[in-house]
Amino acid sequence: MRRLVELCAEQPLTRELLATMADLSVSLDQASEMPGGSPLSPDTPTRRQSASRILDFSQRLTLEVFMHRLVRHAEEGLLQLEPRTVVSAEVLDEIRFAFLHHEISRENRLDIRIEPSHPFFTDPILLTSTLIFMIKAGIHLAPPKEPIRLWMERGGAYRHFYLQFNHAAGMPLNLGNDPKLYPIRLLTERCLGGKFIAHQRPTGLVSFTITLPDASPVPREAPHATSQQAQPGKSGPDSERSTILAADDSKTIRQLIRGILAKDYDILMAGDGMEALEIAREAKPDLILLDVIMPGMNGFAVCKALKADPLTADIPVLFLTALSGDTDEAMALAGGASDFIIKPISPPVLAARVKNHLELKRNRDILRALTLLDGLTGIANRRRFDEQLHQEWLRCGRRAKPLSVILGDVDFFKCYNDGYGHVQGDDCLRRVAKAMAESLHRPGDLAARYGGEEFVCILPETDQEGARAVAETVHQAVAALGLPHEFSEVADHVTISLGVATAWPGECVTPEDLTRHADQNMYEAKRQGRNRVVG
Ligand code: GH3
Ligand code: MG
Ligand code: MG
Repeated sequence: MRRLVELCAEQPLTRELLATMADLSVSLDQASEMPGGSPLSPDTPTRRQSASRILDFSQRLTLEVFMHRLVRHAEEGLLQLEPRTVVSAEVLDEIRFAFLHHEISRENRLDIRIEPSHPFFTDPILLTSTLIFMIKAGIHLAPPKEPIRLWMERGGAYRHFYLQFNHAAGMPLNLGNDPKLYPIRLLTERCLGGKFIAHQRPTGLVSFTITLPDASPVPREAPHATSQQAQPGKSGPDSERSTILAADDSKTIRQLIRGILAKDYDILMAGDGMEALEIAREAKPDLILLDVIMPGMNGFAVCKALKADPLTADIPVLFLTALSGDTDEAMALAGGASDFIIKPISPPVLAARVKNHLELKRNRDILRALTLLDGLTGIANRRRFDEQLHQEWLRCGRRAKPLSVILGDVDFFKCYNDGYGHVQGDDCLRRVAKAMAESLHRPGDLAARYGGEEFVCILPETDQEGARAVAETVHQAVAALGLPHEFSEVADHVTISLGVATAWPGECVTPEDLTRHADQNMYEAKRQGRNRVVG
């Protein structure tokens, strides 16, 4: 109990944690009042049973506090991962223990299938906590008495943990914004280097999927990982492996596709059009195989929606079709499909077409990446900034998260150029760019050259306070370069003035307003004497 009090003293308790703690202390009270529970009564089996329940409850209480502290540390980027080889049985035991006296275990509604001996490399505490958060979210969202299933599958270089339960059809859950899903997403995507997808089918079936690279996780908050290097969902050991989404309502076809492609690619599966669309948006696969005829939303409609969404418009779509007729082909190609594969599927044809289209896409991606880089500094250019700001604006809007922008302008740079020459001026800009990019640690962050001696950062899901802290870091990083600037009026070295602005997308403001606001704050920093952060 002393340890618990110490843990609690470290941080303010969230409302949810307080509620759980209250529940658990009631259970503790009840357990200690069980017959024979008094410490003065003689040692009897009932007393031993009650003592063991008290121990269980107090250990669970400690676990709850610990898990909330884990989330807080993950948010602050303070988590130190300790990956090691873990056998599934360890994880399984911990999970069973966490729900030992929960009504879901008493009612036998929690069905967990994880092969008991399979070893894999991860941080066991983090993985276990993430899975416990997932089960808790399931319990919270599932209707009373509804069974919940959790199982694990291996697929290529990835491991998938699935949780499923039924929810009334036609009763859509707001899975995009549910706060119960927040810790799962945070721990999976920011700390374990994986991907979390929550999805509800029109039939009501709700699925949560955690996909993790089957090897050393890359800590998303690693001190020196710059945003330009981090690639969501591609941080596994085999980062060259492409991900393919196959959507077909026939299980036989899905299995056939998996059999043909799984040794070379990571395969995601969807059983209907809606699911395909959702997975495509979340997981951004490198290529999509789409069945034409599916219940609900057919392949043509899915393709049209994919091409209309900037997040998925560049993903090549290959149709799988038994239809053969010029009109169908023309219709699909006009709708943006890249190719056709006629059913029955010939394995070598499928493998060859997929390989060709992936190669084409890779080349296109390389060319595109080049057009989005700034030639002088090597960081993102203005165009990339504009595109990404727009995307993050939509994403943060969907997730009801704040979005921040920092705009920085090198002080007295004209005098620097005039005094030291343009070549040294260019070199100075390269170093400032590098210092800024290295000050950003989250995978969604972006540092870009806005133009001339002006630089800009995008910080998704970051509030005013967090953005200001990042701006201070950039400010110090530029000063710490210690580049002599004898013509500056504010210091003897190169300095930068920074303006910060934060918005909640969805309010009546635009991304342009956000940048303008950061620009105004940057000018305010100049006005107040330069070499500072305002906002
Ligand atoms: P302030 O402190 O108010 O920002 O003053 P400043 O001199 O930095 O601002 P001003 O906008 O007057 O000058 C910016 C200079 O940046 C002008 C231009 O010569 C220089 N510059 C812009 N792009 C480049 C570039 O690519 N390379 C080099 N070497 N200089 C550049
Ligand atoms: Mg300027
Ligand atoms: Mg300037």
